[in-house]
Amino acid sequence: EIEYASALDMFRAGVAQDPAGAALHYFDGTIYRQELDELSDALAAGLLANGFSAGDRLAVYLQNVPQFVIAMVATWKAGGVMVSINPMSRRRELAYLLEDSGATVLVSLEALYDEVARDVVPDSDVRLVLTTSELEFQTRDDDRLFAGMSRQRHEGTRDLREFVEEHRGQAPPPVQLAPEDVAFLTYTSGTTGVPKGAMNTHRNVVFTAQVYRDWARAGRDGAIFGIAPLFHITGLIGHIAVSMLVPAPLVLAYRFEPQVVLDALLEHRPAFTIGAITALNALLNAPGFTRGHFSSFTSVYSGGAAISPTAEKAFLAATGTPLHNAYGLTETTSPMTVTPFGSSSPVDPTSGALSVGVPAPNTVVRIQDDDGADLPLGEVGEIVAHGPQVVAGYWGKPEETAANLPGGALKSGDVGFMSPDGWVFIVDRKKDMINASGYKVWPREVEDVLAEHPAVRESAVVGVPDERRGETVKAFVSLRAGAEVTVEELIAHCRERMAAYKYPRQVEVIDELPKTVTGKILRRELRDRPSGG
Ligand code: ATP
Repeated sequence: EIEYASALDMFRAGVAQDPAGAALHYFDGTIYRQELDELSDALAAGLLANGFSAGDRLAVYLQNVPQFVIAMVATWKAGGVMVSINPMSRRRELAYLLEDSGATVLVSLEALYDEVARDVVPDSDVRLVLTTSELEFQTRDDDRLFAGMSRQRHEGTRDLREFVEEHRGQAPPPVQLAPEDVAFLTYTSGTTGVPKGAMNTHRNVVFTAQVYRDWARAGRDGAIFGIAPLFHITGLIGHIAVSMLVPAPLVLAYRFEPQVVLDALLEHRPAFTIGAITALNALLNAPGFTRGHFSSFTSVYSGGAAISPTAEKAFLAATGTPLHNAYGLTETTSPMTVTPFGSSSPVDPTSGALSVGVPAPNTVVRIQDDDGADLPLGEVGEIVAHGPQVVAGYWGKPEETAANLPGGALKSGDVGFMSPDGWVFIVDRKKDMINASGYKVWPREVEDVLAEHPAVRESAVVGVPDERRGETVKAFVSLRAGAEVTVEELIAHCRERMAAYKYPRQVEVIDELPKTVTGKILRRELRDRPSGG
């Protein structure tokens, strides 16, 4: 079922197959596979020379820069576990993640070290800090970079590039990683309690990379474009891991700036990407966007958040490329269900939901009631998954592991159903259900109806306290540029299309919906917001 015993073996096979091939494109710079191998050898040797040993954790606190991938491979070569940290994390969050993971090495962007990490590191187990800049590797002209760059220095930190150069030509002793060894810790965002470090094993990583290659055509027609943040499981697997497996070049852009991304699309002509619909839509709505920007793509996947049938059609109309759907969690190492490349997801006639695909190979998806009993096909319940992508547990959290991963199966927290021919549909997240006078209202269904209105750019539906109904349905809506519509018109649009208990009684138009860095709309933040604020 897995082609390599570890993600490191997978990486090595890619290097052996195509040493001169491009591994990473970053602005005008390219790192070739052989070079990536050498850079990560040197870093691994340096880590080992500085007290790092098998099983130790190295935390990566970076944007989408090549150093992310170098640090990841080096960690494996040194027998360690990478800890993937959201670069948006602030002091309290970073302190928690460092403490929870027990990381002893931190690789950080200089700016992030300056703003955040320097105050946190002294109270952590971190003994070695390697800082780096987003300017590194931007161009092939290495000499110029080396000679010219005046770097900020911080006491107690080392410059990553210099550290690597110091150990150039050295290689770490060969390490044999097993499928059950942990490749990285990825933290849940903590919307339900404290963040938990999902232990993604090498088996999880190799398997899910294969799923994206075989079912989503990732990397098979050329370069992969990194639209998702690398720290997130979508980026780790759908960008980095699959680019190592195929192997195929990975195109990176430091930050998600639509204009920068559009330029990179024209320069590098990628064939595959996977990311949140909000990020994809931001590209389509950016000034200067043309169909030509997407003409090199053969396969584009939306993952990480729900898409409506309307959004799927609009993407095809704007780009000429069909949008496929993939569903997964941090705990399923990205893909749990995938719309196989070339098929189109069916739409459920009753709820109007677009299917999130069929279970990935060797994956069993069950729909269960609150007592954990299996429900018949078609009935709505919690989505529970068993398969080679499900994580071994949460780092240092046996109780949470037992609760969310009983018997090795993941309770997703998502509510959905499966059609007789095996397509999975998500109704919504369990905890986002609105209880209006005892009726269950699922926000996604209302959002899909709002998406059909031509003036609506994005929407988020939440339950707000209501004296009479307990909770009532409220929609926050952002409008397309230049669109004009009244709140009454939007309410009427919904009332005509859905049962009386479902349509929003309140609509508030706001400029921009709050989102996570992965592009997920933060319904919770809207729920907690004072009215009209
Ligand atoms: P937390 O679990 O702490 O709230 P999170 O939302 O960031 O954190 P992730 O693992 O990143 O956790 O996201 C997984 C969730 O994203 C799923 O449970 C599901 O609700 C949603 N999701 C992912 N892909 C899709 C999809 N294709 N369609 C609909 N929802 C999706």
